[in-house]
Amino acid sequence: MQETAATSLVDRFQRRINYVRLSVTDRCDFRCTYCMAEDMTFLPRRDVLTLEELARIARVFVRLGVAKLRVTGGEPLIRRDVCQLFRQLGALDGLEELAVTTNGSQLVQHAAALRAAGVTTINISLDTLDPGKFRALTRTGNLTDVLAGIEAARAENFPRMRINSVILRGNNEDDVLSLLDFALARELDIAFIEEMPLGQVNLAGKPLEFVASHDILATIGSRHGLREEAAPRHGGPARYWQVDGGPTRLGLISPHSNNFCASCNRLRVTAEGQLLLCLGNDHAISLRDLLRDGATDAELGEAIRTALMDKPEQHVFAQPDQPQIMRFMNASGG
Ligand code: SAM
Ligand code: SF4
Repeated sequence: MQETAATSLVDRFQRRINYVRLSVTDRCDFRCTYCMAEDMTFLPRRDVLTLEELARIARVFVRLGVAKLRVTGGEPLIRRDVCQLFRQLGALDGLEELAVTTNGSQLVQHAAALRAAGVTTINISLDTLDPGKFRALTRTGNLTDVLAGIEAARAENFPRMRINSVILRGNNEDDVLSLLDFALARELDIAFIEEMPLGQVNLAGKPLEFVASHDILATIGSRHGLREEAAPRHGGPARYWQVDGGPTRLGLISPHSNNFCASCNRLRVTAEGQLLLCLGNDHAISLRDLLRDGATDAELGEAIRTALMDKPEQHVFAQPDQPQIMRFMNASGG
C-alpha cells in the first residue's frame, strides 16, 4: 500500500513514527549484568507472540508507513525458526530497512540466512575483548563464539554493521580504546551506550554506574581525529562522529546526558505484544489481546493510531541507584 497522510503515524508532538523495534523473545543465552538479574523468570510460552502474530503486527506497521523494523529481544537468534520471520519481514512491501540486534552467539549458524532474508543492518553487542571480563559481564557468554559470529557476519557484507558497547564505570571503561581499534581494523561502526537504569540490575550487589558519553568522547578524542556528523542520519538517539583514517563511524547513545526525545521516531513491541510508546514510561496497550480477540488489520491499525496519542513528550529516568521503570531491558526490547 502506498503511504499517504491518512496511513502515516504522527503523534501529538508532530513526531513521525517510522521505526518499530520488535522483541521476539524475552529469553537469552546470556545474563548481562546491566540487562538481567542472575535468576530470571521468563514469560510462559503461550504469552509470547507467535511468529505469525509477529509477522502480522509488522505488516500492519509497515502499512502505517513504518519503513524500518528492528528485531531484538532477549536474544532474537535463539528463538526457534526465527529465520522464517525474517524472510516474511524481508518480503514486506514498503520496508526500507530490516535490522537485527544480537549478542552474536548464534551468528555463525544464522548470518547467511539473515542476509538472504533481506536483513540490511546488524548490530552486535560486545563490551570487552578480554575473555574473563566478557564472561563476568555476560555471566554465561563465550567471547570466542561472539568473535566468530562477528566474522561470519562480516563475510556476508551486510550494508550496515555496528558494534554496540555498554560502558560501566569501574568495569570496562578501560576497554573503550581497544573496542574502537577492533572496529577500526574491521571497518565497522561502533556505538558506546550509556547504561540505563531499567530493572533491578547490579554487579556483586553494587548498583551499576554509567560512563557519560562526553567522557568516552574525550578518551577517544585524545587518540583519534573525529569529525561530528552534521545531523543524525536516522533521527535516532545516536550522535555520530567520523573517525579519521577509515570508514568507521563512532556513535554515542546518551540517554542521561543528551535528551533525544524531541526527535523520537520509534515505538516498541514487547515479546508479549505490548505496544510500548516510550522506553522510559509505562504507557502501553496489548496488541496480542487485540489479535487474539480477532481484530482485523484495520482495527489493529486504528488501535495503534489511538494509542500513539498517549506517547509522552519525554522520558524521565530516576537516579542511577533507583531504577524507576521496573522492567528489564530484555523485556522491553532494548
Ligand atoms: N540480546 C541482544 C543484544 O544483546 O544485542 C539484543 C537485546 S539487548 C536488550 C539490546 C541492546 O541493549 C544491547 O546492545 C545491550 O547492550 C543493550 N542494553 C541492555 N541493557 C541495557 C541497559 N540497562 N542500558 C543500556 N543498554 C542496555
Ligand atoms: Fe541477553 Fe542482550 Fe540482555 Fe545481554 S543485553 S542479557 S545478550 S538480551
